Amino acid sequence: MKGTFPVERFASLRTPFYYYNMDLLRATLDAINAEARKHEAFVVHYAVKANANPQVLRAIRQAGLGADCVSGGEIEACVRAGFPSSKIVYAGVGKSDWEINIGLDNDIFCFNVESIPELEVINELAAAKGKVARVAFRLNPNVGAHTHANITTGLAENKFGIAMSDMETVIAEAGKLSNVKFVGLHFHIGSQILDMGDFQALCNRINDLQDQLDRHYIHVEHINVGGGLGVDYQHPNRLSIPDFKAYFDTYARRLKLRPGQTLHFELGRAVVAQCGSLITRTLYIKKGAVKKFCIVDAGFTDLIRPALYQAYHKIENISSDEPTDTYDVVGPICESTDVFAKQIDLNQAHRGDLIAIRSAGAYGEIMASQYNCRPLPKGYTSDEL
Ligand SMILES: *Cc1c(COP(=O)(O)O)cnc(C)c1O
Repeated sequence: MKGTFPVERFASLRTPFYYYNMDLLRATLDAINAEARKHEAFVVHYAVKANANPQVLRAIRQAGLGADCVSGGEIEACVRAGFPSSKIVYAGVGKSDWEINIGLDNDIFCFNVESIPELEVINELAAAKGKVARVAFRLNPNVGAHTHANITTGLAENKFGIAMSDMETVIAEAGKLSNVKFVGLHFHIGSQILDMGDFQALCNRINDLQDQLDRHYIHVEHINVGGGLGVDYQHPNRLSIPDFKAYFDTYARRLKLRPGQTLHFELGRAVVAQCGSLITRTLYIKKGAVKKFCIVDAGFTDLIRPALYQAYHKIENISSDEPTDTYDVVGPICESTDVFAKQIDLNQAHRGDLIAIRSAGAYGEIMASQYNCRPLPKGYTSDEL
């Protein structure tokens, strides 16, 4: 089965472009809210780095999610999209002074801090403004995730976070500084995680850390478990909405919250991946010595995941119902990695046919570049077409 696309509406648009199915996005947001709201303490943020298209952001803000930012630019994009600053958290291993100042000026909910030097800089910048910054410590839980090596973040060898063994030292350090207030613990173990056992392992680790803090009478306002829930790239039509029930229930069952504690989530991919497709046009069908190439006008400048992570995306010819043939689908960029898929079946393709590269809503448009002086792809929504 193919996805449904307004192919006639696409005809006049310059390709390649991103197309967002807003009904699916809103249904996904409804599913998140339906499951998360069963648990009083749960607060869901959207990880803006997955997709910052203004219309996508607006829909997410309208659904009431908070925002998880990793740069000053993202904080500004969220403020512009109407997210209340009381729902904005800011993480990142290398925050510049001007970015920290944007966070301070907007009185964001929390800075997720990754080192003592960073804590000291935030304290200094907050003091200069006569403010007290709320800070959480991002701890590296040394939990492996069963996902691609380039997108695991919670192992001791990764650059992210503070070692668990330093937890009490950094909390004590924050206690000595008068312009930061320690309010939470933050974790994020990686992305595209489909094995709930990985999240259970994180819960077990957090339970141990909380027991340790209890022994020192240290109270933590909130726990933030990051994001990472994966999507089904193989079956974007059949499984278009991730299993949010299994995800939130895992945390509800396994994580022992203390009275009054809130539990924060930062979902990115699971919110936006399935609603987006990269729409590209077939330029040429080239018969090589051993295979057929479907050469399209999108390249890794438009969608870099296949080149960067060997990521799989389902590809459909949305202009043809002819019997299938086998193709390598490749872009025009002068790099051998500019390949979207090898040896896949497509309805027989001709010059001019529109091709949909599915599940491209997360880490797609936002990672586009202008390499080869190519224009950035535009994003259109089903609301406007
Ligand atoms: C990237 C990131 C997320 C979102 O990850 P997804 O896999 O897209 O859900 C959440 N929190 C932090 C700190 C991140 O860096």
